[in-house]
Amino acid sequence: ERRKDLQNQLRLLLHAHKCQQNDQLLQQQLQQQQQQQQQHPPVNGCQLPQCAMMKQTLKHMMECKDGKTCKAPKCATLRQIITHWKNCNRDECMFC
Ligand SMILES: [Zn+2]
Ligand SMILES: [Zn+2]
Ligand SMILES: [Zn+2]
Repeated sequence: ERRKDLQNQLRLLLHAHKCQQNDQLLQQQLQQQQQQQQQHPPVNGCQLPQCAMMKQTLKHMMECKDGKTCKAPKCATLRQIITHWKNCNRDECMFC
């Protein structure tokens, strides 16, 4: 069951990563269209509640320097997942 959980995390992680890029693109487009001084509120095109959480975690991980000792929820776990996923050569790897 733990393995299944990890697989879900990775799927969500990949989705959130993509989703984040979409949001940024959307936001840039909106700002160009509007050409107003005021900042457009952050775009969130995705309605998935878990995705919003994952995006926050991703943001945290970019800035996190604690690594394995980090106490933030999911930070260490996700770091592990990403490390394996990057180093694993199996195309369909879901943690082998
Ligand atoms: Zn999303
Ligand atoms: Zn952290
Ligand atoms: Zn693997």
